[in-house]
Amino acid sequence: MIDKERYLRIPFFGPHDCCGRTRTASMASGKLVQLTAILIIGLPLVTSAASPDSISEPVDQACQHIAGKLASVGLDECRTLQLNSTGYTSVNGFPILVREYPPLPRRSPRGRILLVGGTHGDELASISVIFKWMKILQQHHSGLFHWRVVPLLNPDGALQRHHTRGNANGVDLNRNFETVGAEDAALRHWIERTYRNQRRYPGEKPLSEPESRWLKQEIMDFRPDVIISVHAPHDLVDYDAPNRTNAPERIGYLYKHLMGTYPGSLGNYAGLQLGIPVITMELPHAGIMPTREQISLLWTDLVRWLIDNINRSI
Ligand SMILES: [Zn+2]
Repeated sequence: MIDKERYLRIPFFGPHDCCGRTRTASMASGKLVQLTAILIIGLPLVTSAASPDSISEPVDQACQHIAGKLASVGLDECRTLQLNSTGYTSVNGFPILVREYPPLPRRSPRGRILLVGGTHGDELASISVIFKWMKILQQHHSGLFHWRVVPLLNPDGALQRHHTRGNANGVDLNRNFETVGAEDAALRHWIERTYRNQRRYPGEKPLSEPESRWLKQEIMDFRPDVIISVHAPHDLVDYDAPNRTNAPERIGYLYKHLMGTYPGSLGNYAGLQLGIPVITMELPHAGIMPTREQISLLWTDLVRWLIDNINRSI
């Protein structure tokens, strides 16, 4: 049963829960993991600062949960980013949040960019990095592009005590998109090629999950020129499009490695079927944040590639 109140009732996650595995490790190694996590990711900061008047109650609640889980994202930081609720929720009723950086007066953007993090709930760095990039956009949005940012597509997977790759139904959202002409392609691939690997379960049928249904509709409504999807931990940049000759050779410290697509993946659906280029940035670590310099370099190179490759009147 969908429990929409769940996120309002569960207590905030404490620092020992930030990395999931700490409770199951032996005491000695558990302490080491805890210490390492604190050193690398930092302690979650849940402060009692008053929320700005402009923030809605659902978004404020969402920020409290996000800041309680992601040590790299402070509560005030989340509140000041002016995220909006889309009105759509995850399986467990968590609002799917979005932040738009729209066209500015007297400047035509060169294109529309959809930026998505947290498709896989156990790739926490992919969420935190997007929060850092939103801070950059908050300060420096120049109207060069029209951005729509979804920092956390899979809140149920990411925000539970023991975060999971899949959503609350155990579905890998990056296998739950449509495959034109082959409705059962993802399920067959899962059975025949992954031998029913639970981490890659595509769901009973395409778009069975509210999170992937929402993203598909978002793609239809926003009509992005490029989709950027952030993942971890494969340490590379991938590119799916009908023509891959302009794939980025390097973005920051991530080098090009074209992996190909899977039935039901976003790269397959948007990149190959819809013809919307999908840049997949795979950070090297799921639970370790890049340095401030690396985060900045990734952003600079990403925008540079967009400037070099996207220029259409919208
Ligand atoms: Zn991933």
